Amino acid sequence: MKNPSDALKKLNRSVASITKWLPHEQIPWVIAGPCSAESPRQMLATAKGLVKCPYVKVFRAGIWKPRTRPNTFEGVGAIGLDWLGRVKAETGLMTATEVANTEHVELCLKRGIDILWIGARTTVSPFSVQEIANALLGVDIPVMVKNPINADLGLWLGAIERLLDAGIRKIAAIHRGFSTYVETEFRNQPNWQIPVELKRRLPNLPLICDPSHITGNRQLIEPVSQMALDLGIQGLMIECHNHPGEALSDARQQITPRELCRMINRLHARDTTLTDREVKRHIARLRTEISHVDAQIIENLAERMKWVEEIGRLKQEHNVPVLQLTRWESLLGDHLAKAEMAGLDPDFIKALFELIHAQAIKRQL
Ligand code: PEP
Ligand code: MN
Repeated sequence: MKNPSDALKKLNRSVASITKWLPHEQIPWVIAGPCSAESPRQMLATAKGLVKCPYVKVFRAGIWKPRTRPNTFEGVGAIGLDWLGRVKAETGLMTATEVANTEHVELCLKRGIDILWIGARTTVSPFSVQEIANALLGVDIPVMVKNPINADLGLWLGAIERLLDAGIRKIAAIHRGFSTYVETEFRNQPNWQIPVELKRRLPNLPLICDPSHITGNRQLIEPVSQMALDLGIQGLMIECHNHPGEALSDARQQITPRELCRMINRLHARDTTLTDREVKRHIARLRTEISHVDAQIIENLAERMKWVEEIGRLKQEHNVPVLQLTRWESLLGDHLAKAEMAGLDPDFIKALFELIHAQAIKRQL
């Protein structure tokens, strides 16, 4: 297929609706369970707590754990499949676990795991994703694909495409944030624009937010879950443990089933099918205003670049370097002061003008 947008449309058409594999009555639908399977007792106690929350439809637990450092807890291995089987038999919850290679896939298929997911450290490797896709040829099982650790939409899309090419139709993407070297309040940066762009390219693809791995901190799970719902994301994957503080992995980000249930009840799910005609008209009016301002911004940027090119010619004629650091610093300082007065986030204005400045330099070279 020559046109990339035709290829995307074809991929999008092949994605099954979430209702085909994860029946739910309300939004958000929730996948919950411990970061890692640790013991049958921990699994059953957690699952019995979770099944009381009607939003929870799937029990998750990692049994093969990809850990950053060796000699840490790397999961209980295949024995955890038995424990997942017991959870299903005793609570009726569907079960899900992470797979990273052919052997994992085959064991899960043999033992009746309902849903598989590919972890962030695996999505980065096309070889591994292809190996998993090959092991799934001709198999009808739902697969959820976590975003790669690095902020690379292409890798995420590529992994989804490999699975779709292998005939997997019941597929979803999990947004778990992206690692950075800067210390922030989050363990992994949400970079919301990336899942939003994924959804724009593949509108049929169900999107799930994993606030546990985004935040790495149980205190922040609720606001990030709400943010996901505000963006129209309808599924959540949340790590829960019957004794979170004692968890063998990711102890800081796990919550009890009870805390989960209370939190979900406080969240506001957004209605994606707006029926009130007056509100619809009002939204349309506001959208017109916003589009008008956007058009002005584009015209202003074009005008700015015209002056930039003129100054560039002058600098060249007079042998002046293009980059004038003192001018750039004073400009940025002025803009940040103005932004603060206008109630705009200084980090946003800084990032915006860094982009504009980089473009202006390019135009002068
Ligand atoms: C997990 O969900 O347990 C996990 C390891 O997550 P991620 O692949 O997002 O790091
Ligand atoms: Mn985890």
